[in-house]
Amino acid sequence: AADRGVYNFAAGPATLPLSVLQRAQAELVDYRGSGMSIMEMSHRGKEFDAAIKKAESDLRALLAVPDTHEVLFLQGGATSQFAAAPLNLCASLSDPADFVVSGSWSDKAFKEAKKFSAASVAWSGKDGKYTSLPPFDAIEQNPEARFLHICSNETIHGVEFKDYPEPKNKSGILVADMSSNFCSKPVDVSRFGLIYAGAQKNVGPSGVTIAIVRKDLVGGAQPITPVMLDYKTHADNASLYNTPPCFAIYICGLVFEDLLAQGGLAEVEKKNAHKAGILYDAIDASGGYYICPVEKSVRSLMNVPFTLAKGGDFEKQFIAEAAKEGMVQLKGHRSVGGVRASIYNAMPLAGVEKLVAFMKDFQARNP
Ligand code: PLP
Repeated sequence: AADRGVYNFAAGPATLPLSVLQRAQAELVDYRGSGMSIMEMSHRGKEFDAAIKKAESDLRALLAVPDTHEVLFLQGGATSQFAAAPLNLCASLSDPADFVVSGSWSDKAFKEAKKFSAASVAWSGKDGKYTSLPPFDAIEQNPEARFLHICSNETIHGVEFKDYPEPKNKSGILVADMSSNFCSKPVDVSRFGLIYAGAQKNVGPSGVTIAIVRKDLVGGAQPITPVMLDYKTHADNASLYNTPPCFAIYICGLVFEDLLAQGGLAEVEKKNAHKAGILYDAIDASGGYYICPVEKSVRSLMNVPFTLAKGGDFEKQFIAEAAKEGMVQLKGHRSVGGVRASIYNAMPLAGVEKLVAFMKDFQARNP
């Protein structure tokens, strides 16, 4: 936050609430009178046990996770889930699975899933440079597929599902990579067989990945599944089969408490919509000076990619001058270039307002 002199617009690891960091700082050396740091404690001790249980129950409260679903704290990043999904949900390597490829991340998920299933592309946004999402009836679903996979928010391309397609496969399973919009708004978890998300955008530091999986889908993993990728391993052991990323889980717990204290995800969504609204309005009101290529109806509330009509040199100048004014990490992903402002939950409104003011000023100075 600005209290630290900098607004961090990074796509992840991303800014965390200052209050959470300060609390962690206060507890870092002596965790709640124990004389030890939580990162020095046994993951089977009473302090960490209480921390992970509270993190899970607060996350369940935030997302209204039904009892039909397990909440798992995992390692290996969301990237490991690209393999875990087909390994757990497909009965064999030749079982079909459908993928909506709406950007770089769902493309990666699809390519990894091809190794562990007969994955196919049910819709691709590649020809449109990943600036749109399909009308749901344009998704060519295979009725034999084990699941339909989507990425709910494409972090690089800035495309976000505002509603979710119904899976038309025989098992009726919808899977979502929610890494970059997890806990940014309410979600009807009951519609999903599996949701997974790396923590490092909205809910914590990198090192922990959260999976929310329907209980009846746990236990049918392919025999080749590594023990660490089998949801049953972690469901049977309350995410404590091996040493978990204790410190990261603890921080996620503090973030969940903070989100609940803000009034829950409906309130958080309102703030996020307001922040994104003023940024997109500034882009659209610039007379073509700034351009966001994403179709308006699917623009992400989390990652706002844009270019400058004047070209790459001006983009470089824009990013460098913004950094001098304390707005850092605005460079677009190396694969697409341009500018990207990631404005996750913990980005204060003042940070977005400062960016918008800077954009107007930059345009006035460089007509
Ligand atoms: N999926 C999405 C949508 C992401 O944004 C990212 C990372 O930025 C990943 C997956 C990969 O996550 P991880 O780095 O935790 O493996």
